[in-house]
Amino acid sequence: TIILAIETSCDETAAAVIKDGTTIVANVVATQMESHARFGGVVPEVASRHHVEAVTAVVEEALEKAKVTFSDLTAVAVTEGPGLVGALLVGIHTAKAISFAHQLPLIGVHHIAGHIYANQLVQPMKFPLLALVASGGHTELILMKEDGVFETIGQTRDDAVGEAYDKAARAMKLPYPGGPNVEKLALEATEEIELPRSWLEKGSYDFSFSGLKSAVLNRIHNDQQKGIDTNLAALAKGFQESVTDVLVTRTVTAFNEFQPKQVLVAGGVAANKGLRQALEERLANKVELVIPPLHLCTDNAAMIGACAHQMWLSGARGSLSMNGRPGMPLQSFA
Ligand code: ATP
Ligand code: MG
Ligand code: FE
Repeated sequence: TIILAIETSCDETAAAVIKDGTTIVANVVATQMESHARFGGVVPEVASRHHVEAVTAVVEEALEKAKVTFSDLTAVAVTEGPGLVGALLVGIHTAKAISFAHQLPLIGVHHIAGHIYANQLVQPMKFPLLALVASGGHTELILMKEDGVFETIGQTRDDAVGEAYDKAARAMKLPYPGGPNVEKLALEATEEIELPRSWLEKGSYDFSFSGLKSAVLNRIHNDQQKGIDTNLAALAKGFQESVTDVLVTRTVTAFNEFQPKQVLVAGGVAANKGLRQALEERLANKVELVIPPLHLCTDNAAMIGACAHQMWLSGARGSLSMNGRPGMPLQSFA
């Protein structure tokens, strides 16, 4: 298959051309990060407008780079949800127009399924596998016994890990996006401020990060009251150590219980070097561990194309009545 994929769920306008679900022929990402940075986070209406301005050029650039035309395509795929509804709709309408004008099948892809299938662009997926999803809106452990079948064994009960990074960053007066900036600051630390870890009840694979976020806020607030300048690098390090410890320990426990053939990492937080290193130290000698390169961890359309290929093989087809689904649940497609 040759699939054109479009992703506009948040603040990246992205298009990619993917061959057979495994080869990136073109992968274009136009980020809006700078526009949102001055607001300290993504402003939905601003995101939608930027997508409208960028999407046509991004799609054209992807096709040009891939040296293909619409008539070469097997299907057009798009992120159907979850995400910001106005942002999603820009990609969906673009995909629908292409589908209608060029008589191409339309495939609606779940954004998180996309993050997981980004791994297919790195290494063939082997089942059963365990996926750690750590992104701006999701923190989940997902077991896949076969292609297209998702079983969520644990998820966050409050903040997603990326969200916690972004909120901690704001408390530390670091610019948006928070994750990479907290990571950078933590690298400068010569000491560490120990922060709590939330393990929840025994046997659970769920996560909770709101207590950690509060601990960061409280520490800064209490120091302020005492007239002390908080050692922010030490705090950033403490934050990152807590997050990494919880994510890695939970993943290792799940690996021990389910004995998957592969462990995959997915989502923007997988770009974190501390997390990548800790996972490698704890798992690489036990199982095939796959962590995508940074540009396939954060939002992109290549991952949507990789997932769409497998959905295509499973017979999934969308229709021109497709709508943006901001709260779309992750459902098996096989
Ligand atoms: P979702 O995928 O759940 O819908 P999203 O698409 O907004 O949410 P992603 O683009 O997958 O999320 O990831 C963005 C998140 O990753 C942000 O919260 C960002 O702070 C975080 N992130 C990016 N790079 C790093 C890093 N190096 N360390 C920690 N966090 C990071
Ligand atoms: Mg983003
Ligand atoms: Fe994402």
